[in-house]
Amino acid sequence: MRIADVYKKERPVLSLEVFPPKPGHSLKSVFRTLDNLCDLNPSFVSVTYASQGESTLRTVEIASRVRNEYHCESLAHMTCIGHSKHEVASVLDNLEARGIENVLALRGDMPPDSSCISRDYNFASELIEEIAARDHFCIGAAAYPEGHIESKKISSDLINLRRKVDAGVDFLITQVFFDNRVFYDFRERAQHRNIEIPVIPGIMPILNYKQIKRIVMMCGVSVPAKLLYLFDKYSHDPEDLAKAGVEYAIEQVSDLVEEGVGGIHLYTMNRVPQIREIVFRSGLRKQK
Ligand code: FAD
Repeated sequence: MRIADVYKKERPVLSLEVFPPKPGHSLKSVFRTLDNLCDLNPSFVSVTYASQGESTLRTVEIASRVRNEYHCESLAHMTCIGHSKHEVASVLDNLEARGIENVLALRGDMPPDSSCISRDYNFASELIEEIAARDHFCIGAAAYPEGHIESKKISSDLINLRRKVDAGVDFLITQVFFDNRVFYDFRERAQHRNIEIPVIPGIMPILNYKQIKRIVMMCGVSVPAKLLYLFDKYSHDPEDLAKAGVEYAIEQVSDLVEEGVGGIHLYTMNRVPQIREIVFRSGLRKQK
């Protein structure tokens, strides 16, 4: 089913993101995770993409099994930077052959030395145009409530977001944010630019200080005072920080649902008990 149609039928749509194990590791661990996450009956599961070697095949394989074995809709992420047109066409052919209808079309992060990579693509909008021309896929793209880290101005990032939408995007999923006001402001600014497709908040629970610090630094997202307080309070107690992180995510999700968002996309980081707790306690699903 096309994910754009899911957003027309349900509110709030629950989606869960998982990532494939590192190259060289068996896929078993991600399927163990999925055994316990698909049981939550998410409306779709998204599978991240790493552009090196066998990783691309792993995303396609997992997304395909989510659909055919777990009977849950899947969204395959795909990046284009450093890929040739031929490589992109072959990934899309593979997705199409396996009956996958939904793709999250991304540029991907610039490698540290970008001078020696294939420059068939510079921006996600070019990939989106190509996917849209196939007339097979429902297309999602990334949105940045605080602006993409490379953008000098938030306003120019919004212009570029509009370019992606015009190229054929059906829905947007946001980068993580820790203050819901950031999302509400962004949603308004997107509406002023006549972006009328669903804009879905991406929520990442804080389960590990080092991991969050890395993400904050990599993505340039802001950390509100309330969160800094938690980091200080639990600096010597990782378990209590993770518990506080779950509470924080439940508060964020509950507030977003109350404000009428079309869906909640949870960055699960392949963690099961914490995600189940967030889903149940924020009322996204009822515990059987
Ligand atoms: P783009 O939309 O191309 O934007 C990149 C930068 O270029 C922005 O600063 C934008 O303002 C600017 N720009 C865009 N078009 C133009 C233009 N025409 N002229 C000038 N500037 C322009 N990464 C992965 O590797 N694998 C994943 O699975 C993955 N999943 C993600 C899922 C979500 C929901 C999100 C939010 C991000 C994900 N990422 C993933 C990270 C993403 O690849 C990076 O954030 C990347 O740096 C940008 O990708 P993009 O598709 O947003 O790029």
